[in-house]
Amino acid sequence: MSSDREQRVSAGDGAIASWSRELLLRLDWKRYQDLVRVLVTKAGYRAAVLGIGSGGMGLMALSWGRGGSRSEALLCCAAWDRPAVDGQQVRAFHHEVAERGFPCGTMFTPGRFQAAALEFRGDYPLELIGGDEFLEVVGRLPREESHHLLKLTTSGAYDVPTCPTCSVKTELREVPAGPGGGGRQVRDGAVRPLWVCQNYPGCGVTLARRGAPGDGGTP
Ligand SMILES: [Zn+2]
Repeated sequence: MSSDREQRVSAGDGAIASWSRELLLRLDWKRYQDLVRVLVTKAGYRAAVLGIGSGGMGLMALSWGRGGSRSEALLCCAAWDRPAVDGQQVRAFHHEVAERGFPCGTMFTPGRFQAAALEFRGDYPLELIGGDEFLEVVGRLPREESHHLLKLTTSGAYDVPTCPTCSVKTELREVPAGPGGGGRQVRDGAVRPLWVCQNYPGCGVTLARRGAPGDGGTP
């Protein structure tokens, strides 16, 4: 799954040297949302965070133009634990766009969209932007700007996901599998550590580590 464009992230001294697909997949979805917000703002749009939509998607309202020619779109950053967005998730986003009265929507994921997701989009006014396209946009930034954004994006606990329900950071824990336990039983029967909400068991949100075996895999 590696290509020339995907340089490995060197974590030697803790500093991330360059943008890569691997880095995007490790980012907290909320950090990814912040990154999207910075980039669309740079491009001249206004972006306002709306909170969390159905199924735990981070939502933003995008607007541009003035007065009578003002336009809007709903933006969503996938807060899911799978590296590939499926058709059901795009369907849920489409529903969210219509329900909130937006004429169109754009969904961002640091990973990929499955064939079923692209198929569902069909003729709907939905734009789907995956990690590779996102990296192309970042790659067009002036070098200094790109470097500054990278430093900002990778500061602190950038790779610890935020609970989409409680907006607090999760913790990596081994939790018992099965009903109420939240642990994910994978094919070989083993239970692997999950990102668990700090409010567990009050909040049952758990997220698999992206790229870890048994997290749904890469398409
Ligand atoms: Zn929570």
